[in-house]
Amino acid sequence: MTDREHRLGIHTTAIHAGEAPDEATGALVPPLHLATTYHLGTAENSAAIFSGEKSGYVYTRWGNPTVAAFERKAAALEHADAAVAAASGMAAIASAILTIVKAGDHIVSASAIYPSTYHLMVTQLGSLGIETTFVDATDSSNVERAITPETKLIYLETPGNPLLTLCDLEAIAGIARRAGIATICDNTFASPVNQRPLELGIDTVVHSATKYFCGHGDAVGGLVAGRAAFIERCFTEPLRYYGGIMAPFTAYLMLRGTITLPLRVQRHNANALHLAGWLEQHPAVARVSYPGLPSHPQHDLARRQMPGGFGGMVCFDLKGGVAAGARLMNAVRICSLAVSLGDARSLITHPASTTHSVVSREARLAQGVTDGLVRLSVGLEDVEDLMADLDAGLDSAT
Ligand code: PLP
Repeated sequence: MTDREHRLGIHTTAIHAGEAPDEATGALVPPLHLATTYHLGTAENSAAIFSGEKSGYVYTRWGNPTVAAFERKAAALEHADAAVAAASGMAAIASAILTIVKAGDHIVSASAIYPSTYHLMVTQLGSLGIETTFVDATDSSNVERAITPETKLIYLETPGNPLLTLCDLEAIAGIARRAGIATICDNTFASPVNQRPLELGIDTVVHSATKYFCGHGDAVGGLVAGRAAFIERCFTEPLRYYGGIMAPFTAYLMLRGTITLPLRVQRHNANALHLAGWLEQHPAVARVSYPGLPSHPQHDLARRQMPGGFGGMVCFDLKGGVAAGARLMNAVRICSLAVSLGDARSLITHPASTTHSVVSREARLAQGVTDGLVRLSVGLEDVEDLMADLDAGLDSAT
């Protein structure tokens, strides 16, 4: 029975995959290998490693045992052949994209993506002669219509920024396959506990491992997971030569965080679903966006595509606009006014008075960032305490 046919449960996988007792000491925790360089033994052994005849560690930018353990664990969780770790989510995204496209190629991307990914495509890839067309990918036919003879990649993120809208991964993977185009999906918001894009036909998954994989807000990292040949190319070409590899200590923290990934994500899901339903009834709240609520326009798709749960991100719109948002940010005591997500701590932002305060109102509204939009990364605290904190904050806001 192959490993693929006999998959272990998600908690067992998170704990055991990619690890084995250390051969030298029997240590159960994968050792943190900080060495940058490795003894090559003999000239003959060295020649065999350099020619690719034999595998072996040479130099940490070319491979490191602690990083490799994290890569194996992440690949097992995404049900991927292989994974490669990167210095950040952005290093992973850039490396995955540059494994596919070159000057003259075209990308079709969902418009609802992490803003730095958008800037990467417009500024960095644009200056390399790679053009991107952004479409509302909540309607798969928009993706199909934007394909040109030069299109080499369809790039998706679901749930996407800023309103937790979804793309139909199976439908878009089908469109891409028929057109012979590669697909990448940023699975950061969902995590492999809730959604596994590769099982829906997507070629490659990317992550900001800074978020749920790490889970404790203390390490920045990224992941690319997919077919073995693609991961090998991604690693030996853009990642190795641009140098955005994951540091061994980061991998050690990621391994430690990933052991509890399914447990944590299940609690993020439960807390977020509870809060989203409660916020929807709150008099200070005009609208809630959460894929797990029947009011979400793509709730049926969420139920199909996110079998593990609907994630820890909740967005809501305050009736009181910009001023109410600012008052809420100042009033909360348990939720921290902070960017990022996937932390054990609940993190809250009001884009109109924080991240988007320098963007014109028109441009902000065009991105779906309304005056009263609040983004909440629901943490692992007791949900009653989160409700009390938000309730007091919403009282002050109104
Ligand atoms: N993708 C998503 C969905 C994100 O939210 C982020 C960061 O917030 C990134 C990618 C980039 O990740 P990193 O900050 O680890 O580079």
